[in-house]
Amino acid sequence: MDSKERIAAALKVATDTKVFEMGQGILPIVPDVFKKLFPGRKAVVVADINTWPAAGEKVYGYMTAAGIPTEKYIIDKEEFHAEWRYIEMTDAILDGDLKKANFIENDPEYTETEASKTFRQPSEDHYIAVSVGAGVINDCCKLASHHHGQGYICVATAASVDGFSSFGASITYQNAKQTFECPAPTAIVADVDVLVNAPRWMVASGYADLAAKIPAGAEWMIADLMGTEPIIPDAWNVLYPNLHQYLSNPEGIAALDPQAVADIFEGLTMSGFAMQAARSSRPASCCEHLFSHILDMTHHRFHGKLQSHGIQVAVGTLTMCAIFDEMFKFDLTKLDVETCVKCWPTIDEEQMRAIEIFRSFPAPKLGYTEITKKYNDAATVREQLTKVKECWPEFKKKLQGQVWSFEKMKKCFEIVGAPTDPSDIGVTRHQLHDMFPKVQLMRWRFNALDLAKRGMYYDELVNSIFLPGHAWDINEEQPFK
Ligand SMILES: [Zn+2]
Repeated sequence: MDSKERIAAALKVATDTKVFEMGQGILPIVPDVFKKLFPGRKAVVVADINTWPAAGEKVYGYMTAAGIPTEKYIIDKEEFHAEWRYIEMTDAILDGDLKKANFIENDPEYTETEASKTFRQPSEDHYIAVSVGAGVINDCCKLASHHHGQGYICVATAASVDGFSSFGASITYQNAKQTFECPAPTAIVADVDVLVNAPRWMVASGYADLAAKIPAGAEWMIADLMGTEPIIPDAWNVLYPNLHQYLSNPEGIAALDPQAVADIFEGLTMSGFAMQAARSSRPASCCEHLFSHILDMTHHRFHGKLQSHGIQVAVGTLTMCAIFDEMFKFDLTKLDVETCVKCWPTIDEEQMRAIEIFRSFPAPKLGYTEITKKYNDAATVREQLTKVKECWPEFKKKLQGQVWSFEKMKKCFEIVGAPTDPSDIGVTRHQLHDMFPKVQLMRWRFNALDLAKRGMYYDELVNSIFLPGHAWDINEEQPFK
C-alpha cells in the first residue's frame, strides 16, 4: 500500500475525520475543503505569533479571496500550554466575541469556570475554527468546537505531535492533566512545505511522540494478555504494521527531507486515527507519556521554558525501552504465583499507598482515583500471573518484535536531535527514579509496572535501569547544558 491507499483505508476506521490531505504546496485547497464541509458558515483562523507567518496569513488570504466570511485571532504569546484558560478563550472566539477572547487570554485574575458549563447551543451564527498550528492550538480548537457542537479544520504547521487527529484533547484543568473527550478535526490539511519549515526541534519532538508508540504498543499487548483492555484490531492495524517503517529514516528527519517528514506526519496522524477507532488514547500512550504528564502537572521548566510534549515524551520513551530491556532478562516462567497472590495487597492498602505517594502532588487524589479503577482482586491476579507464566517465552518474543532496545532508540533520538538523557530536559536521574511510583498509579490503564507489581519484581525492575552500567546509571548524572 502506498501513502494514499493507507490514508484512504485509515479514513474508513476514523470516526470523526472525513478529509486528510497531505502534500507539497496544498494550502490553497483549504477554502474548497471548508466549503465542502461547512457550506454557508463563517470561519475564524486561529493562529499564534509563530504559526500566523508560517501558514495562517496565507490561509486567511485564501479564505477571504474565496468569498468565505473569515475572521482571524492570533494568540499573542511566545509560549503557552493547553490550559483551561485557552479553552475558554477559544470558546469566545467561536462565539464571535473576539474582545472577550482577548480579555480571557490576558486576564491576570483569571479563574477557571466549571467545565460542564461551557457547552453552547449549536448555532449557524458561530464561527467554524480553522486551526493553524500544532498541538496546543489544535487541542483548543478541538475542545471548543465540541462545546459548540460543530466540526473544524486543522491546518498543521509542524509534524510535532499525534494530537492532530486524535479523539480527545489533553488539557490541564484544576491542576491535573486531563483528557476531555471530543471529536477529532473534520479535516486535516498538511502542507509538507510548511512542515519542513517548522523548527527542527518540533520535528524531533514529533519523531519522539511517534516513537513513543513502540513501548506504548508493547504495554497495550500486556494489557491485552491481562484481559483488561483487549487490542482493537481496527485501531492496531491502522498504525502498528507501518510504525517501524515510519520511524526508519532518522537521518532524513535530521536533514528535513520532505518525504521523511511526511512519513512522520502520516504516522502521527495514523496514531490519531487509531485513537479515534479505539475511542481512547490506549493505542498511542502508556507509561512513557505519564512522565511527561507529571512534568506538565508540576509546571516543570528548563532554562525558564516549558518543555514541549514530544521532547518530554522522548525521555519517557527511552526510560520505558530501558524497562523492557531489563524485563526481558527476567524469566517469568519461574513466577511463584501463589506467593505473589498471598502477598497481593488489598484495595484499602493500595488506596493508602496512593494517597501517601500523591500527598504533596498538585492533584493529591489522582493516584487514589486511578488505583480504585484499576485494582484487581487476588483471584484475578492469580489468573493474570498464571497466564504470563504459561506463555512467557512466546509472549516475550512478540514483545521483543514490537519494542526497541534502549540503545537503538537512543541512537535514533541522537540523529533526529531529540533528548537522549533526562538532563536534556532539566530532569535528574534521581528525579526520574522518584517519578516511577506515580507513573505506575496515575492512570487506570494496565501497564508494564502493574504487571511487575503483581509478579513482585517491581522494585528490582525499576532499580535495575539505574544501576552502574545501565541506561540511567544513577552515579552518572549528566550536567545540565
Ligand atoms: Zn503524545
